[in-house]
Amino acid sequence: MLTNTENIIEVRGLKKAFDQNMVLKDINFAVKKEEKVVIIGPSGGGKSTLLRCLNHLDGNYTGDVLFKGQNLGQLSKKELQLCRRKMGMVFQQFNLFPHKSVLENITFAPVKLKLMSEAEAIANAHDLLKQVGLDEKAKAYPQSLSGGQQQRVAIVRSLAMQPEVMLFDEPTSALDPEMVGEVLGVMERLAKTGMTMVIVTHEMDFAQQIADKVLFMDNGHVADIGTPDYLFNHSKNFRTRTFLAKVM
Ligand code: ADP
Ligand code: MG
Repeated sequence: MLTNTENIIEVRGLKKAFDQNMVLKDINFAVKKEEKVVIIGPSGGGKSTLLRCLNHLDGNYTGDVLFKGQNLGQLSKKELQLCRRKMGMVFQQFNLFPHKSVLENITFAPVKLKLMSEAEAIANAHDLLKQVGLDEKAKAYPQSLSGGQQQRVAIVRSLAMQPEVMLFDEPTSALDPEMVGEVLGVMERLAKTGMTMVIVTHEMDFAQQIADKVLFMDNGHVADIGTPDYLFNHSKNFRTRTFLAKVM
């Protein structure tokens, strides 16, 4: 089948069940290079499951997920690893290694995978930490940082792998309100660098501002899709309207 190579991610006929529970029911969409796709929708609708399928964290699905034209389900283990490395993922829980310093958290994977020398990885980590205002915390341990600081480090740790796409699953949902802004600010600056991003979020102002395309996911379906202006201001979809009325 012909594939548009401009699509960094393409999802075709994706279905997934946990036992008898159909969680993803025929999902189709694509993410183009540099595009920011925001996924919104009620809890339990399948947003996290979808993100996990995108980078094959969970490969137990039917249908196709393509990364730059390569069908993830048909790759060798080695080829799959190479693709997965190009997709950074940031979770609600920051999952930093508790026994490693901030710097070690960031340099660990690129050095271990021999993507860079240790000296290069350290220089790169300091560069990235400066960009998120945390270079003075390089020697600190995660538990001494605030939630917002930990999440900024988690983003930097993903970026240190030089991904081509960044996937975010509710990156600010576990944060105290006063820390949400600093993380969204980092994501906004990342967006301006041209990074391709897929973001699950409940931050509706941020979604409207950053998105090129918004997917409304409900009960395992992409129930509505369009520009932020369409989705937030003009959609006549009953479920979209009901959801937005509750959260905005
Ligand atoms: P969302 O991120 O939109 O809140 P999820 O993708 O987490 O939705 O969940 C979608 C559905 O899949 C829910 O009904 C949830 O209970 C179910 N689910 C998610 N993960 C698992 C799992 N590991 N085992 C069984 N059911 C799961
Ligand atoms: Mg979720």
